[in-house]
Amino acid sequence: MNNVPYKTYLSESELPDAWYNVRADMKKKPAPLLNPATMKPVTASELEHVFCKECVRQELDDNTPYIPIPQKVRDFYKMYRPSPLVRAYFLEKALGTPAKIYYKFEGNNTSGSHKLNSAIAQAYYAKEQGLTDVTTETGAGQWGTALSMGCAFFNLKCHVYMVKCSYEQKPFRREVMRTYGADVTPSPSMTTEIGRKINEEHPNTTGSLGCAISEAVEAASKMPNARYLLGSVLNQVCLHQSVIGLETMAAMKKLGVKPDVIIGCAGGGSNLAGLATPFIGEKLRGENDYRIIAVEPASCPSLTRGRYAYDFCDTGRVCPLQKMYTLGSNFIPSASHAGGLRYHGMSALISELYDQKLIEATSVEQTKVFEAATLFARTEGTLPAPESSHAIRVAIDEALRCKAEGREETIVFGLTGTGYFDMVAYGKFNDGEMDDYIPTDADLAEGFARLPEITC
Ligand SMILES: *Cc1c(COP(=O)(O)O)cnc(C)c1O
Repeated sequence: MNNVPYKTYLSESELPDAWYNVRADMKKKPAPLLNPATMKPVTASELEHVFCKECVRQELDDNTPYIPIPQKVRDFYKMYRPSPLVRAYFLEKALGTPAKIYYKFEGNNTSGSHKLNSAIAQAYYAKEQGLTDVTTETGAGQWGTALSMGCAFFNLKCHVYMVKCSYEQKPFRREVMRTYGADVTPSPSMTTEIGRKINEEHPNTTGSLGCAISEAVEAASKMPNARYLLGSVLNQVCLHQSVIGLETMAAMKKLGVKPDVIIGCAGGGSNLAGLATPFIGEKLRGENDYRIIAVEPASCPSLTRGRYAYDFCDTGRVCPLQKMYTLGSNFIPSASHAGGLRYHGMSALISELYDQKLIEATSVEQTKVFEAATLFARTEGTLPAPESSHAIRVAIDEALRCKAEGREETIVFGLTGTGYFDMVAYGKFNDGEMDDYIPTDADLAEGFARLPEITC
């Protein structure tokens, strides 16, 4: 072992006091959200019917580079942050690579993922606004769990619409949410108009994030003092997640190490944005250069095979439209085991950064992901979430490339969470029963055919 410690922790006082908003440093900004009724850029007051006021302000703010983290949020962060930056010495050794691999570990809290970073902020703003209830959707269950924790802390009632296949596959996640005081409904349900309509059109559907979002938005609109909160995709969520990248950058500067390659898995894009945007800011300002890689599942390849177009964020088409890399809002991905990556689109921010070639993207197949997850668990000790394991897969591939080329590059990836609730998936892999479903071009064409026609 050399002189870099296995784990680097910042002290509590080094916890960032502001989030970083990369949009302020982008010359060409992400495209504006459109109102689905008028197809015009959505105004703050229109958005405030759906989201909390302060979240709307952050959503639309393309110019302020640093936004202070409220003291109460920072205090909560102190229970589990700063998170460790780990040097993966044992993985490097197993690979026999000259590359230096680091990972930023976000799984050290009960929700088991980075999602708590935004959940606690959004719950805080909801409380400050005087709301009593919030609604949300959850795919694999990490966001619902994180928001339940945030709502318990600020004494808000949390209503979660959980994608049906996860609800059935992950009963323990459901009970964690209920323990934190949330109520959990499998989606599509019969409790909303849109849920009833989707159930009628697709009687055997196991649900999707797009459906669950529509249900949660509808439910919030029917309660007197509620708003809808979203765990990924939006600018505000990417902003809150920047705490990951700011800490990573501070820890690496402390070690005197500069990363060459930064890797994150990409579902809605928030953890990747969080990890990478402080580094992308340096790229944009001409201070430094890095390779940034987004990793998505081959079963839901929005960046690598999607269209860059305005599309609906939800199946029910009630949310604002967003310009993003998308597979079409009616695309329902196969029941892959990385539930947190099963979203038809990508955040407008990551989409625009990808379009400007500031980040690269690649897709990986499920069995290859679980091979990487297993190697990681056996060498580094931590059982990774399937979502996170997409980033592990590509970090390993990059480290093997370095080995072949004899290069000592420094690789950093986001280990977004732990996989204790994903043992059904690990079981399938261990039994050799996992398959790699990849949509055909014809499958994708169906989703593209229903993209709204908007030219701006
Ligand atoms: C939700 C989730 C993701 C993907 O969401 P992003 O918004 O793309 O970050 C990745 N990893 C874990 C553990 C998750 O829970």
